[in-house]
Amino acid sequence: MSKTIAVIPGDGIGPEIMTATLRVLDALDCGLAYDFADAGMVALDKHGDLLPKATLDKIAEHKVALKGPLTTPIGGGFTSINVTLRRHFDLYANVRPAISFPGTKSRYENIDIITVRENTEGAYLAEGQTLSEDGEVAQSIIRNTRKGSTRIVRYAFEMAVKKGRKKITAVHKANILKTSTGLFLNVAREIAKEYPQIEFNEMIVDNTCMQLVMRPEQFDVIVTTNLFGDIISDLCAGLVGGLGLAPGDNIGEHAAIFEAVHGSAPDIAGKGIANPCALLLAAADMLDHLGQVEKGTKLRQAIRDTLTHDRDSVTPDLGGKGTTESFGEAIARRV
Ligand code: NAD
Repeated sequence: MSKTIAVIPGDGIGPEIMTATLRVLDALDCGLAYDFADAGMVALDKHGDLLPKATLDKIAEHKVALKGPLTTPIGGGFTSINVTLRRHFDLYANVRPAISFPGTKSRYENIDIITVRENTEGAYLAEGQTLSEDGEVAQSIIRNTRKGSTRIVRYAFEMAVKKGRKKITAVHKANILKTSTGLFLNVAREIAKEYPQIEFNEMIVDNTCMQLVMRPEQFDVIVTTNLFGDIISDLCAGLVGGLGLAPGDNIGEHAAIFEAVHGSAPDIAGKGIANPCALLLAAADMLDHLGQVEKGTKLRQAIRDTLTHDRDSVTPDLGGKGTTESFGEAIARRV
């Protein structure tokens, strides 16, 4: 049975890495059909709108989108398209896997950590930011709700069960931010009792940062609030050699958008040397989400094998001399 997904190639290196990714998905033979949609600078040029209604409609219709990076124009009062998409579809779970791959520059081996970040509340409320009229006092509100904490923690536990993960660490700062992250922690403790098969522990965010650097192997799944998740997921990407291999999944009840964590890389756009792996790994997560777990696993393994056995095809950011196309082709041959 064929499933249609919305495909947003995006800006800068977006179309290049998307072409390579779709080539690999076709080789995987996972029965996907693509409904292309514009967003970002391409959409602004074509339709006078960074995020046209037709694009929102396509995502709503297909419920799943694969998205290339989008450039947010500086100035001009443009809000980030990514933030707009997150709000519009209430994509409350930002899932950021960090996995070690062979042949990548990193001090660590065998890292496999998934950060599940709450994506809609916490310290990132637009309406919670105020500046006094004289510009002397800036104030931000942190708002966590029982509902918001419950759905993110439950998502993390359900994901852990589905993916066969063993342990969840709830990261918080309830010793100081007693009310806001205290509420999150209490909810996490309550929900953990419903999943006795998953080991649960809790850790204060500052200690978590140190532990991630000293003994990352103790972590499996991390669930945390918006601001901490933003920082920790980048820290985890650093443990496995940077953003070139970092996918980001944005999941809501009615839609899910899968993307690379990196941006549109204007400095290398059009040169054919962008690394397609982060978007490919996002595609692998998308296949898991669509119930095609075997295909997702196969795709990750093909990336691993290519990085191990086909170094000539790999892009320069990972130490190779290859191109986006040669890297994509080498992976496509292995799926
Ligand atoms: P960036 O991630 O685009 O680039 C940072 C550095 O990493 C650059 O040197 C770039 O060449 C390199 N890089 C990034 N992806 C790469 C890849 N796949 N292969 C090889 N090298 C890669 O960050 P930036 O320059 O700060 O942002 C550029 C634009 O992207 C901005 O407009 C920003 O708003 C946007 N952005 C979008 C997203 C998104 O759509 N999810 C995320 C981050 C930034």
